[in-house]
Amino acid sequence: MRLSQFHLATVKEVPADAEIASHRLMLRTGMIRKLAAGLYTWSPLGLRVLRKVEKVVREEMDRAGAIETLMPTIQPRELWEETGRWEKFGGQLLKIKDRKEQEFCYAPTAEEVVTDFARNELKSYKQLPINFYQIQTKFRDEIRPRFGVMRAREFLMKDAYSFHLTQDSLQQTYDAMYQAYTRIFTRLGLKFRAVQADTGAIGGNASHEFQVLADSGEDALVFSDGSDYAANIEKAEALAPTTARPAPAAALTRVDTPTQKTIEDVAAFLKVTPAQCVKTILVRGSEGLVALCVRGDHEVNEVKAGKLAEMPGDSVLASEEEILALTGTRPGFIGPAGLPAEIPVIVDRSAAVLADFACGGNQDGTHFTGANWERDARVTRVEDIRKVVEGDPSPDGQGNLRMVRGIEVGHVFQLGKKYAEALKATVLDENGKAQVMLMGCYGIGVSRIVAAAIEQRHDEAGIVWPEPMAPWRVAVCVINPKNAPEITQAAEALYAELNARGVETVLDDRGLRPGAMFADMELIGIPHRVVISERGLAAGTLEYRARHEAEARAITQDELFGLLG
Ligand code: ATP
Ligand code: MG
Repeated sequence: MRLSQFHLATVKEVPADAEIASHRLMLRTGMIRKLAAGLYTWSPLGLRVLRKVEKVVREEMDRAGAIETLMPTIQPRELWEETGRWEKFGGQLLKIKDRKEQEFCYAPTAEEVVTDFARNELKSYKQLPINFYQIQTKFRDEIRPRFGVMRAREFLMKDAYSFHLTQDSLQQTYDAMYQAYTRIFTRLGLKFRAVQADTGAIGGNASHEFQVLADSGEDALVFSDGSDYAANIEKAEALAPTTARPAPAAALTRVDTPTQKTIEDVAAFLKVTPAQCVKTILVRGSEGLVALCVRGDHEVNEVKAGKLAEMPGDSVLASEEEILALTGTRPGFIGPAGLPAEIPVIVDRSAAVLADFACGGNQDGTHFTGANWERDARVTRVEDIRKVVEGDPSPDGQGNLRMVRGIEVGHVFQLGKKYAEALKATVLDENGKAQVMLMGCYGIGVSRIVAAAIEQRHDEAGIVWPEPMAPWRVAVCVINPKNAPEITQAAEALYAELNARGVETVLDDRGLRPGAMFADMELIGIPHRVVISERGLAAGTLEYRARHEAEARAITQDELFGLLG
């Protein structure tokens, strides 16, 4: 590609709301331009990268035996009613009407449509297993679209759906997809980790997320320093302490704490550590408020809380008014001792082994010290409801947990019969009997990968693409083209030779000052830069610089070809 005939439009200033490096760099390079919240145009430069990711994903899906399809992004309400998700999917589902007032949604995912396709296409167990995939635009009306294409509203996803007669067969395809994903992210040159994941609203059993490791990642991940255990913090089990609860030694005492709001304030005032306090959070259960009690130095895991029998499937904090109405107390002073009898008290495993602890006094401006379970505070049930913390024992019993942050770029899960049952997607088995199929589904955030890669690979000068994702592998920069025809000729000849060798090359023939040209090539992250100058031409060398190296060096043309492989 000749840059003079391309549309490269790098910019110096980016909006202040571009908080993370990848967002800033995608705007500065001009890879994307914002149309509206969560909606972006991919410029010619950005699209080159997006297509590269797409190509690797497609090749590995094909290699793993999946078959490509393309499904509509506009999907009828009736189909979504069949699975109950027209309502259940919530605010992320963009609903639209056509001119006949018929209702549709813009696909946030495609389980409904693919299962409808499968129920019509697949008649016999002999057609199974089969794995359909597509690379197609999705829309989710995210509450907080941010970080550019990282969490956009419209984005490009690869989604695959497999169909099976048996669990064994589902497991096999699941394992094959897990391997395919491992190959994809390895080929793309990313540092990633597969972690056990919660299956969320979609249901089902086994699930893993593929996470690109980056400090700016929205997901907290834990892994064991003594085994290969790794999980999203949402999923990671906090084991019960091995120590028993000591017998009560102190008397329950009410203490005035008029100005102490946070656990830290209260603990400091009472001269105890947060670990000797119990923090009580009231959430909205299916039949009224539910109290969740964790140690003061721990946090409630909302995903675990959402799964409690008392909960409607998610965990939403009770409002100050609700809490006041039921308990006569403001939220900061709620505690398990003396709560109204209709509120179930769910106690975390670690909080349950405390004795003589401090907690809210259920009267504004007061706390208790010397509180004890059973004696002073009801325990409806002890459960695992907290987030694990650094240093906790690994749930597999080997080693301790460490924490890192990640960006979810892929997700595989076994859906079981959930969708096939709802949509009556059956095939005839060997005995001619109709059987509901089992399903797996496998997503990759194709557009998110582009941002995730930048997040992991950049420096002060710009993007440092892993080679398979770079818009071009080589940039040939022409200095002073107007004054020295032999330089232009040499650059043209090298450009032609690289193209003939199948090396994707960009010729910077814009006639810019060297500084501006180099800054652009570094910003857009071209892995290999070659400069043809008068001096080099005389010496028979090229000035070469690898993007990740600090210095340029003189090499011959043959050395260049050698290093490009
Ligand atoms: P997240 O927790 O980040 O919202 P998700 O669990 O909702 O992701 P899936 O439903 O599993 O995501 O979708 C498959 C993949 O699509 C994700 O692994 C992610 O890479 C990508 N993805 C999901 N939401 C977005 C978004 N708003 N913008 C860009 N990519 C997204
Ligand atoms: Mg989401």
